[in-house]
Order: sequence, then structure tokens, then C-alpha cells
Amino acid sequence: MHKLLRLNTGVSLFRAFGIDVCAHWSWLLVLPLWFPFRHKLAHSTRWLSAEIVALFVIVMLHEFGHALACKSVGGTARKIILWPLGGLALFVPPARPWAMIWCMAAGPLVNIALTPLMFAALYLASAMGASQGVQSFLIFVIVMNLVLLAFNLLPFYPLDGGQILRGVMWLAFGRVPSLLIAAGIGVVVSVMVLVISARLWSLGALLTALFGLLQSCTGMRQAWRLRRTLAGPRHAGFVCPDCRVAPPVGALWRCGKCRHRFDAFVDRFACPQCGDPNRTVPCIDCGMKAPPEEWAALPPLPPVPAFKGIAAQPVTQ
Ligand SMILES: [Zn+2]
Ligand SMILES: [Zn+2]
Ligand SMILES: [Zn+2]
Repeated sequence: MHKLLRLNTGVSLFRAFGIDVCAHWSWLLVLPLWFPFRHKLAHSTRWLSAEIVALFVIVMLHEFGHALACKSVGGTARKIILWPLGGLALFVPPARPWAMIWCMAAGPLVNIALTPLMFAALYLASAMGASQGVQSFLIFVIVMNLVLLAFNLLPFYPLDGGQILRGVMWLAFGRVPSLLIAAGIGVVVSVMVLVISARLWSLGALLTALFGLLQSCTGMRQAWRLRRTLAGPRHAGFVCPDCRVAPPVGALWRCGKCRHRFDAFVDRFACPQCGDPNRTVPCIDCGMKAPPEEWAALPPLPPVPAFKGIAAQPVTQ
């Protein structure tokens, strides 16, 4: 993937709830596209600037929804990259379908929660006889919020709707097939949008489709790598205290301090680069975190016995 199109390219703005907030470089493209587009409609340059700030704040609240939901279920969220359409952030939800569905739904839920507040503000503004500029600004903010909500809920990976769909498919088909299907649909839809927007000369749609395509390809690659990891060799002598599955072999853990990738079980629960000890080790299979001493060799769970002729069911969440 080209470095510029990677989502971790941005300007750092501030830090809140332990999360760094950055603005993605693509805002620089939005501004020159936005001003001529809105110039005839907005009342003045001042309101035009207010519109951009409002869009920025709505996207930021949406991303905080994802990030805080992710933290609430034990995932990691270190950084929010704001890009004009929202929908993408650098966080890792735990590897459990319901945790993932909750993390991905929390962003659009913020937009839903904002809607009645915005309508109340518009109602108050018109009741108090606010100027035309204020009222058309508030109407713009309401429309923008609803457009972002609808866009992010489109059921195509990597949009929130597509990731929620992936979580639902995870419940039905499993972790790797659900990601392969969702990201595969993402590739097909992105290519279709890419062709259509190139024919229509629509730069905004073209860039969005390009982002979608790159993210979907990354998703497919992740699914492939995950399939190989989960099918590969396992560490004997350790099992996850939650799912009782032995951890896979490989540099699958990342140091919380220096971001170095290492094998927590070979390197004795400390980063080999900076020496930072692991207080908890996340399970690659179920996503639950447990302290190193709890990863001791517990006996694996016995197979669920068949009961009165009913076939044994796998233990699912
Ligand atoms: Zn989102
Ligand atoms: Zn380290
Ligand atoms: Zn586990």
C-alpha cells in the first residue's frame, strides 16, 4: 500500500481519554473542493468556515464513539485519524464478534444521538428569531450528520455498516470466512464505484472508492494471514484461561511501549526490544486478555458430551 494512503498519516492535534487525535492529510483536498461547491449556497465565508469546523467535530465525535466503545470491551484505541467521511480509525477491537459489532455500531450511534439535539437547537434558534445565517447553518449541520450516518451504514467493508455485517457473518460462518466474504464484497463494490466515478469525473467518489479498495485488499490479506496463523503450530504448555486453546506460534503480539512485534511465549512475556513486561497477554483466538501466570497449562476443556441423542454443540458466545 502506498505510504500516503495509509491511514496513520496525519497531523497530531490533541490527546483525550488516552487517545491521540490526528487530522488526515485528505482534509487538504476537501477544503479546495468544498469552498466552490458550497460558496453559492452558504451565506458568507464565515459560515462556510463554521460548516467545516462542524463537519470536523461531527466526524471526531463519531470516531470517539468507536474508540471509547472499543476500550469499554477491552480492545485498544491509541489514535483517531480524522478523515472527512469518518468511518475509519486505528483501533483493535477484541477478537470476539459481539465486541466487534458493538465497536463498529458505536460510531453511527453517536450520529443518531446527535440528531435530536441538533433539531432541538434548530427549533430554539427559530423560536428565538435567530438570523438566516444561523438557521441555514444548523440545517446544514443536520443534513451533514444524517448524510454521514447513512454513508457509514452502507453495508460495504470497510465502512461501519460493512464491518457490522462482518460481525454478524462471524457469528454464522466464523472469524476468517466472515472477513474474507466482507472484504471480498468490499473489493468488488470499490472497483464498481471506481469505474463509475472515473466515468463521471467525480474526484471525491474516486478517492473514496480508492480508500475502500485499499482497505478491502488489506482486509483480505489479513484474513489470509489469520487463516494461516490459526491453522499453524501451537505453543505446548500454555492455554488461554478463557477458551482453553493453546496460543499460536509466531510474532503475533505487539509491545505496548515500542510497537515491536514478538512472540510473547518465546520471549517470556517481555518485549525483547525495550524490555517492557506484559501485564496481560491477549488471546489470538478469543481476544480475551489474561496475565501471564494465568496462561499456565490448564487442562483443555473436555469435549461436550452428546445428551439424549441431541448432537453436541460447539460452545459459542
Ligand atoms: Zn465509523
Ligand atoms: Zn517494546
Ligand atoms: Zn482464548
